[in-house]
Amino acid sequence: MKLDGKAALVTGAGRGIGKGIAASLAQEGAKVLIADIDQGLAEATAAELRETGQEAAALRCDVTKADEVDAMVEAAYQRFGQLDIAVNNAGVVGAMPLAEMSEAEWDRIFAVNVKGVFLCCRAQAPRMAETGGGAIINLASIAGKAGVPLLSHYCASKFAVIGFTNSIAKEFAQEGVRINAICPGIIATAMWHGETGLSTLLKGEDETAEEVWQRKISTLLPQGEEQTPEDIGALAVFLATQPHIIGQSINVDGGFATY
Ligand code: NAD
Repeated sequence: MKLDGKAALVTGAGRGIGKGIAASLAQEGAKVLIADIDQGLAEATAAELRETGQEAAALRCDVTKADEVDAMVEAAYQRFGQLDIAVNNAGVVGAMPLAEMSEAEWDRIFAVNVKGVFLCCRAQAPRMAETGGGAIINLASIAGKAGVPLLSHYCASKFAVIGFTNSIAKEFAQEGVRINAICPGIIATAMWHGETGLSTLLKGEDETAEEVWQRKISTLLPQGEEQTPEDIGALAVFLATQPHIIGQSINVDGGFATY
């Protein structure tokens, strides 16, 4: 297996894409720390992985809190003795016209999507550099490559993740820490289908949430079909094993983005 003997942590891994990434890493032999702000979800994911014979532990962590992020990274070292792979996946979304966007809403998105990634990388990269190197993968989005109406704060946060990732990748390139970002397209998680998911938030008066979902898939994605958490997990495994891919933000989007 490609990740035998490796130790990983994934934030926001209680469900959705993070859960898929954690499963892909574990299937390749990595021990995985499942971190999520929702402890119950984190524990359920870890239990599922353990049921299939993989090594997984759960931890509650709010990535917007520096002390909790530092404690999460420390917990990975305490539990596994090392940290080789960190996937900073926790993220939140919202949708509204600019004129209706409150400061609180802007701050909510940036606290998780940007400050959270900053705090995680700050805790992970220097420590990895001291302990033999590793791979960090941040979750950006196709919304970090092109703007989307009504998602201006979310898009701005994902553009920020890409710029931040590229900068620190260069900072740590000679220290054995390989830092990249993944840009998913559209994936059927709670971010789209939950009560406050995008399908509902973007719905017009005469439209159902399911119609919005189908419209987005067919109009935005040239391939005409959604991606899956497993697609993202496969790229995370690949990036975790490649020595010379540094500072990239790689799309898994069925052909949406052109760079
Ligand atoms: P999701 O809402 O299904 O899952 C997000 C997870 O993050 C949840 O388990 C949630 O509890 C956790 N979380 C939220 N705030 C947190 C915090 N402060 N600290 C720790 N954990 C927190 O979302 P998803 O679709 O799986 O998205 C995962 C990542 O992928 C996000 O960064 C998202 O922006 C990105 N992404 C998603 C899509 C998509 O179509 N679903 C597309 C592009 C990018």
